[in-house]
Amino acid sequence: MDHAKLLPSYLIQRYHGWKATAYAENRAWYRRLAESGQHPRAMIISCCDSRVHVTSIFGADEGEFFIHRNIANLVPPYTPDGKNHGTSAAVEYAVTALKVAHVVVLGHSNCGGVQGCHDMCSGHAPELLEASSFVGRWMDILRPGYERVAHIEESLRARALEKEAVVVSLENLMTFPFVRAAVEDDRLTLHGLWTDVGEGGLEQYDPVKGGFVGV
Ligand SMILES: [Zn+2]
Repeated sequence: MDHAKLLPSYLIQRYHGWKATAYAENRAWYRRLAESGQHPRAMIISCCDSRVHVTSIFGADEGEFFIHRNIANLVPPYTPDGKNHGTSAAVEYAVTALKVAHVVVLGHSNCGGVQGCHDMCSGHAPELLEASSFVGRWMDILRPGYERVAHIEESLRARALEKEAVVVSLENLMTFPFVRAAVEDDRLTLHGLWTDVGEGGLEQYDPVKGGFVGV
């Protein structure tokens, strides 16, 4: 395997800096984490977007959140077809093995994946319609959400679709039998959030109002 290279020096320097400070000052705690296994209370499903920093928003330490990230924080419908399903595997492990008490879907502003879905569904991104487009086929998960916002004025539609990405994921989570069973037994609660990257805002899905309200 001659395609992988050694790390660039700036990352090596940053690593040694962390090892000498944050790690060195908390060595006993890290060792306890290693020995006692992980017991996260919550699973977070967020976008790959580098600006979405869920551990910072909640001041979370190592061991607190079981985090899964994918394009546009989407959960696909339950599809037990024997294929590779990374997101479904993460949900299964979090709920059935780690027995997390909460699953939180975190959407965000200025989401490129959601914008791509918007462009694809509105006929402005033919490349995303190709069978070979992994992003396009992944964003098919959000098509039901696009149908619900298609009537909205165009300048407001992308933001509405970002929130639909959270709602669709919450709906799809309930199609997993082990998620539904845990929710119905009050062992698990599902939560939807949307964060405004530029403003630092956080809104949560309110099931009574059927929309997002500020936290
Ligand atoms: Zn995103």
